[in-house]
Amino acid sequence: MKENDVRCSFCGKSKEDDGIELLISGISAHICNNCAQQADSIVKEDAAVRKAEGKTKDLVLLKPQEILTHLEQYIIGQDEAKKVLSVAVYNHYKRLNYQVSDDEIEIEKSNVIMVGETGTGKTLLAKTIAKLLNVPFTIADATVLTEAGYVGEDVESILSKLLQSADYDVALAERGIVFIDEIDKVARKSDNPSITRDVSGEGVQQAMLKLLEGSVVNVPPQGGRKHPDQKMVKIDTKDILFICGGAFDGIKQIIERRVKTQAIGFSSGDTIEFNEENILSYVNQLDVKKYGLIPELIGRFPVLTHLNPLDKVTLLRILMEPKNSLMKQYVKLFELDNIELVINDDVMDFIVDKAIDLKLGARGLRSICEAILTDAMFEAPSHDISRLEINLEYAKGKFNVSKISQLEAIVA
Ligand code: ADP
Repeated sequence: MKENDVRCSFCGKSKEDDGIELLISGISAHICNNCAQQADSIVKEDAAVRKAEGKTKDLVLLKPQEILTHLEQYIIGQDEAKKVLSVAVYNHYKRLNYQVSDDEIEIEKSNVIMVGETGTGKTLLAKTIAKLLNVPFTIADATVLTEAGYVGEDVESILSKLLQSADYDVALAERGIVFIDEIDKVARKSDNPSITRDVSGEGVQQAMLKLLEGSVVNVPPQGGRKHPDQKMVKIDTKDILFICGGAFDGIKQIIERRVKTQAIGFSSGDTIEFNEENILSYVNQLDVKKYGLIPELIGRFPVLTHLNPLDKVTLLRILMEPKNSLMKQYVKLFELDNIELVINDDVMDFIVDKAIDLKLGARGLRSICEAILTDAMFEAPSHDISRLEINLEYAKGKFNVSKISQLEAIVA
């Protein structure tokens, strides 16, 4: 063979042959465009077969401590919730592996309810866990769900979304995680004045039981309303982990009343000191029932935990510490333009103070940062600068003319 007579190591053809447009060289072999294409379809076919057999992703069973360590990189504070969730998730997936044996002890599912103000990290916790475990994950909003026959989404739509996030792999969807947000908004009407929903939420709670109790549910794969000619997919929910979250506005008074009543009768004389920070840590299933969740539903959520309100110190940490914190993201964005971004400490304090004033929690940090930095992000790349320092005067100026600053008048 001549030295420059390069041939495909698979079909033996050279560039001179018909249909050969490209020869890709490896360390000691070559592949032509035809053989590369063929190899590609073999790989795809094999992946499709393995997917159909439900073998695409083996579940990684991480220990609670490992789950916690991972959560700590992304979620600041909320130590109890992180620990409780790490254990619940570990037990849930251990239960999944254990079911393969014929042992007669049945381990119940560890569905979780999280009680905590909006923007304290409930969704972030659930999302971070799903990502870590590499299982399909979906977020549903309880407020858009209705009982069958009403305008709104059927509860089955939650499973449609989960199936979509599993890329229509039923076996994979059947061990995914569903996060149902705003569960408190479907509380049944009680004497709780903060509940404004006029259609009874109880019907939605009843409808949800079907998903939670571990049954086979007919799901319209594309979502939307069920109709007679639609092809349904059967999804068994017994191994799907459900995590619910809600702010449960007003639950603090319920907790306080209960704990005070229970405390009567103890002769120790100890009085429990309640304050804004610790009251939620006493929350239990009784309070959630009193709030308006039906006992059947609560019974299917054996794990209950709380998230603390975010104070200034925690907000500052959230701004800077997580692996993908907002500040790290902005610094990176400027760095990609070879600009060193420096944000003064008093600007950080200003951002956090505004987030507290606007009652937006951690959710507001992003909008406030955008208000301050958008002009800089627009202008800096067109100027030949290597360093950009944001001082308090600049930050205040940008914030005061931003749309978000107008919220202040409304909140105040
Ligand atoms: P919730 O579900 O409780 O309403 P989220 O989890 O959606 O709140 O939080 C909104 C955003 O605020 C998150 O995307 C995250 O950036 C930030 N955040 C909230 N709480 C925390 C926390 N404890 N640690 C880190 N980031 C947080």
